[in-house]
Amino acid sequence: MGSLKQEQFRSELMEWAEENLRDFAWRDEQLSLYEVFVAEFFLTQTPAGNVAEVYPDFLERFPDLRAIDGATEEELIDVIEPLGFYNMRAEALKSIAAEKRELPETVEELTQLPRVGHYVANATLCFSRGEPLPILDRNVKRVYGRVFDTDWPDTRSEQITFAEELLPEADPRTYNLALLDFGAAVCRSDPACDQCFANGYCEYYESL
Ligand code: SF4
Repeated sequence: MGSLKQEQFRSELMEWAEENLRDFAWRDEQLSLYEVFVAEFFLTQTPAGNVAEVYPDFLERFPDLRAIDGATEEELIDVIEPLGFYNMRAEALKSIAAEKRELPETVEELTQLPRVGHYVANATLCFSRGEPLPILDRNVKRVYGRVFDTDWPDTRSEQITFAEELLPEADPRTYNLALLDFGAAVCRSDPACDQCFANGYCEYYESL
């Protein structure tokens, strides 16, 4: 489903992904749901470099929710301080671990957890399980808003539908990772349009 332009963007982004995906510890396909969740929970409003700094140490000291439940907030903060928002994050993790030994496996249940929004829930399930769920953060919205401008809807529910249409059935995980990396490397705030595969049909570029 989707317009020809959507199909072209999807297909060219998947091609771009073959050579350009970034390599982060939390992108290993063998990671557990918990390990992917921890990364996505930390990546909210936090640069990947800061997360990379604390991620291995955090998983070593707190390999599951039981370990978090057995630790004090201060012990969590001791590891996650470089991330910022560490009081809020430690409190939320403690609260989750006090209630659960395993993370839930649906968007509905994940978003009931403290400080877990749709982005974190969808990214966790897509990146750990390959579930076809759209991810819509500020950067992804910027990319879609530029490429599809007049077709890109205003309301959140329509944007979700639009993003769902773009997901390839065969490999939504790679598509979403590519979208994040394309927004970080090419269609960034100061876009590198001259190096972009979409500059033949991107509405933002046409308007320059
Ligand atoms: S042409 Fe420029 S604005 Fe359009 S998608 Fe590519 S980098 Fe972004």
